[in-house]
Amino acid sequence: MKMDLLIHNVRVCDDQPLMDIGIKDSKIAAIEKGIEASAVQSIDAGGRAVIPGLIEPHLHLDKAMLHRRLPASLGTLDEAIRVTGILKSKQEREDVLDRSRRVLDMAVQNGTVAIRAHPDVDLIQGLIGVETLLQLREEYKHLLDLQIVAFPQEGILKSEGTYNLMETAMGMGADVVGGCPYNELSWDDARRHIDMVFDMAQKHDAHVDMHADFSDEPTDQRFACAAYIAQKAIDTGYQGRVSLGHVTSLGALPPEELKPIMDLLYEADISIVTLPATDLYLGGRKDDKNQRRGLTPVRALHNAGVNVAYSSNNVRNAFTPFGKADMLVIGNMLAHVIQFGTPEDQATVLDMGTKNGARAIGIARDYGIDVGKQADLVILDTYQVADALLDIPSRSWVIKRGKITVVTHHSCDIHRRGL
Ligand SMILES: [Zn+2]
Repeated sequence: MKMDLLIHNVRVCDDQPLMDIGIKDSKIAAIEKGIEASAVQSIDAGGRAVIPGLIEPHLHLDKAMLHRRLPASLGTLDEAIRVTGILKSKQEREDVLDRSRRVLDMAVQNGTVAIRAHPDVDLIQGLIGVETLLQLREEYKHLLDLQIVAFPQEGILKSEGTYNLMETAMGMGADVVGGCPYNELSWDDARRHIDMVFDMAQKHDAHVDMHADFSDEPTDQRFACAAYIAQKAIDTGYQGRVSLGHVTSLGALPPEELKPIMDLLYEADISIVTLPATDLYLGGRKDDKNQRRGLTPVRALHNAGVNVAYSSNNVRNAFTPFGKADMLVIGNMLAHVIQFGTPEDQATVLDMGTKNGARAIGIARDYGIDVGKQADLVILDTYQVADALLDIPSRSWVIKRGKITVVTHHSCDIHRRGL
């Protein structure tokens, strides 16, 4: 069989010999030692490590790169929503496209092959986030897959008219129904918000992806709704079709209260997407000593069998003034914060940035380095897979559906004086 692309001498597993990967019709056709087949194009990876393409399950493009326009000084969630709201009211299409492309280009260069984007859908910026993403989904389709969430950042009941806008967004081609129950005025409204999100998702046969539980404390139920959402997913037959971002208040629960919620999340097959850059930056702001890390309890969730992924969330705005859409950078930071340091733990974090993310956005079936899977691969400028999070190496080659999309050339010579 003639291959479209043949990758020679690549490290798939650290405890196995170097392999060749043959790609045909955008899929992995063979993973063997010394493949003899001819190929249209070939790469010699020179023993470098390969990982499946990185996945960003939770990214805001329409609000990215606003950090110098109206800097936030307090660093609280309320301030971030308020400051970004002012800027959102002035959104212009070409500017949104320009800032979104800057982030997408970084993501592609950093080996990301799929993104679930969460554009705000509200009365402040209307549908400009969805419209621009529909254009970008087409523009970037050879480089990465873009899913679009209709995300009601300003609430649904609190902001009348948002539900209809979300319906319009779904009709225009958004893929996923979003939610933001913490931004309602009462727990009753937050619950109704969640119910409405599920109603809309069922109507469109779409996945659900909500910003849930964004608080240091579980005392305000609006910010502690993971259990309600999990039960709702079970009752509606939505197991495996719901992802939740942040879910930080679970980190404040004692183990005996956390356990039944984690069991429910597991039963509902809900993916938890931790967003460490934002959660670390905004969380624990009122603590004047022993400041909290403000993250969801990743190790406990992982041990309970819950699918945990991570993502960048925001890139350079009032929610997160840093970031370059690099999943290995975020993974390295996450590993520190959640104290995942052993070789096994580090491999788990790498999974969270790859296959767990794929599961969180519903693309796991075609994903991974196996024969028959879609050829979305990143060859790293390092020689062991286990060094991915340690080296944060250059992405030497990025491959999307069997086509090379990024090549990074290296020319670094260190001249040691006296040697
Ligand atoms: Zn978010």
